[in-house]
Parts: sequence; C-alpha cells; structure tokens
Amino acid sequence: MGSIAVKGGKVYAEGYLVEANLLVEDGKIKAITKEDVKGDINVKAEGRLVLPGAIDVHAHINDPGYLYREDFESASKAALIGGMTTFVEMPLVKDIDDEASFKERKEMGERASYIDFGIHAGFMREKNYNRIEELSKMGLKTFKVFTCRPFRAPDEQIIRMLEASRKTGSMLLFHAEDEAILDYYFEKYSDRRDQLCVHDARPAEAEALAIEKVATYAKLTGGKAHIVHLSSKLGVEAIISAKKSGADISSETCPHYLVFTKKDAEKLGPYLKMAPSLKEEKDRLALWEALEKGYVEIVTTDHAPGTKEEKNVGYSDPWKAWGGVPGVATMFPVLFTYGYIKGLISLSSLVKAVSVNPARRFGIAGKGFIAVGNDADIIIVDPNKEIKFDGSKVYKVGWSPYDGMSMRGFPEHVIAGGEIAVQDYQFVGKTTGKFIYQKPS
Ligand SMILES: [Zn+2]
Repeated sequence: MGSIAVKGGKVYAEGYLVEANLLVEDGKIKAITKEDVKGDINVKAEGRLVLPGAIDVHAHINDPGYLYREDFESASKAALIGGMTTFVEMPLVKDIDDEASFKERKEMGERASYIDFGIHAGFMREKNYNRIEELSKMGLKTFKVFTCRPFRAPDEQIIRMLEASRKTGSMLLFHAEDEAILDYYFEKYSDRRDQLCVHDARPAEAEALAIEKVATYAKLTGGKAHIVHLSSKLGVEAIISAKKSGADISSETCPHYLVFTKKDAEKLGPYLKMAPSLKEEKDRLALWEALEKGYVEIVTTDHAPGTKEEKNVGYSDPWKAWGGVPGVATMFPVLFTYGYIKGLISLSSLVKAVSVNPARRFGIAGKGFIAVGNDADIIIVDPNKEIKFDGSKVYKVGWSPYDGMSMRGFPEHVIAGGEIAVQDYQFVGKTTGKFIYQKPS
C-alpha cells in the first residue's frame, strides 16, 4: 500500500476547516500539516473540502433473500460514488441471530465489500429475545427491534431486552411506531388505492407514542436506545423530552424525510413508498432544525432498494408495492445540496451527522473524523461541482428517487482504507472492506 498526499485543501479537523496538507500511509492518517508533504500518489485539493468519509449505520445491503436487489459489491461501489466509506448492514428478512448467520454475513462482506462494514443483529423476535448476552459476546452489540408490524416485539420483551442491553453495553435500535395506531389506520384505509393511503396510514402520532414508550422503558432499565428513521415533528418533540427525562436515547433521520413530503409522493407514487411514511412540510423543516441543533444526532440512508417491478405494482395497489428506497450513493450529496448549500445546516453539523456522531454513538473506533492515527477514509469535494444524478448508472435496481436531480457534494476523489477508491468521480476501488466491531457509547 503506497502513501498518498492530499495537498492544499481545506481540511475539516477538530471541528474546524483548516488549510492543511494530509499524508496517508498504511491505511492511516499519518500527518495533518502546513508543511509540504509528498506521497507515492499526490492529490491536488486546492479549493476543495477535505472531509471524513460518511458512515451509514443503517443500510439493508446484502440479505441473502434479496440479492437480485443489492449485495455488498454493488452497494459499496454505489456508496463510494457518494462519499460513503463505511456502512453497517441491517437485516431485512434473514435474521442475524446466531453464530452461523453472523459468520455467513460477515464472510460475504469480507469477500465482496469495497468499504469497511459492520453488522447489526436481529430482527429480535420470539426465537431470539433472550440471546442478547450470547450475541454480545460474539461481538454483535447492536440489535434491531420493532415496536410494530411486521416483527413487533411485545412490551414486556422490550423491557427485558433493554435490561440486557444495559448489562452487556449494547444498544437496541428501534423502529418506533405504535402498532395499535397502525392497525386502526390500515383497516380504516384498506379500501383506498390513491398514492397517499400508505402515507396517511402511518401518522406522526404513531411515531411519537412509540418513542415515548421506548424512552420510558430505557430510563427505567438504564438500557441504551436508538430510534431509527425519525420522520416527523412530533417524533422530534418526543425525542427532545426523552432526552430531558434522562433516558439514554439517540436518533437518526434519513435524507428522504429531509427532502420529500406527501406532495412528492403524489407525483412519484410507489417510488416514494417507505416506512415510516413521508409527512408534511412542517415535519421536514423540523427535522433539519433538529439536526442543526443536535437533538437528532445522525443521518442514515435506510437503504432498501426494490426493483421497478416491485414498485410498479403500487400504481394500481399502493399497499402491494415494496416499501423502501435506495440511498447510499446520495446521502452526502443530498445533505450537502439541500441542507448546507440551502443554509438549513452548517458544514459542521453536516459532518457531525454523517461522520462524527455515528462513529461515536455506535462506537466505531478509528473512524468519523480526520485525525492522526485514524483510518484514512477521506473525501475530497469540489463545493461548486454540480452533477445530475442517474441511479441507473449506480444501482443494481437501476433507479433512485433522486434521478434527474442536480446536486453538489459528489466527491471528486475518495480515499477508503488508505487507497484511492474514486478518482475524478470515477470508481477505481478494490474489495478491501474489513469487518468492524461496534462498541456503543
Ligand atoms: Zn431499515
């Protein structure tokens, strides 16, 4: 592995942008300096931002049941194009809840991933509620739990699992929507076939109520909770009061909730079906504000692509369409364009949301910020370069809800694990992704 010098850029280090040169050696950041540096490869970065690579702690990448949609190879290539240098695999249908399933998924990643990756365990359900201690010993420290369909854990099990999370220093990741509210609306709207029915059936109140309950349980047990894919203003308010109560709770939102509302769902129909659903303009703006203020600490993709066929069935029956969108290639550019450039978020809050905070909360050692000794996962961004996104060139499923949108923030160069993986916007990576152990804090 040769050395790389990144010269003349504005480097985001220790919370500030500083003009500095970087030297990368043996996969690590060796120096951040005003002095001249020379590498085997020299990258010119004048007028460019030099930032830590993005980390996505919620991506459905490589479920053996759905390999026609995505796998470690295709997803990690797409991720790199958009400046993502680490992701954490979340199960989709095939559980990761014993040694064999953990080993299988880990080996798949080690064989095919171009970027470093972690793995969440779950889904936690009947057969594995009591395995947190055992899985934790194997090095799995993050567990996905549903408060609602399709894998709803009963309240009494949620409390026990939070207790186990406290004992083992692990964290539960909650899909938080109240099942009784969903049940009521799914039945009430079951005859509707307009494109908004699937969104109206998941009101913000369902999210807020489930967060309140999880937070109360987390506080009582001392367990660690993280709310995934926050979508509403009421949800943000529930998070703020949960934090005030002293519960050990954090949260993430996703780019689609920051860019789209129900109005867009009327136009893009099934291509914007996801769970939780899209909400209103006031919700979208509340999420940006919460990110800027740090109430919501993290942005993830919830990357869960479906094929066009799986989406198109939704034109006649939205209930039948696949719920989920691809997102690993666009997370950073979407936040850069619609948040930073539009003035809704500072560069510092952006970097915290996609790099610093996910590394800290999920305990991903050596990543998340540019510092001497850290992994050399670095993106070099020309802040003025605009690129029209085309998902057909990037994703296995051949589409993205951001198709045709012009965005800034696609990195000119990406260094992943100390090697050039994107050069002049072109993918040139190698499958050197390593498995990372998480240690939530
Ligand atoms: Zn998900």
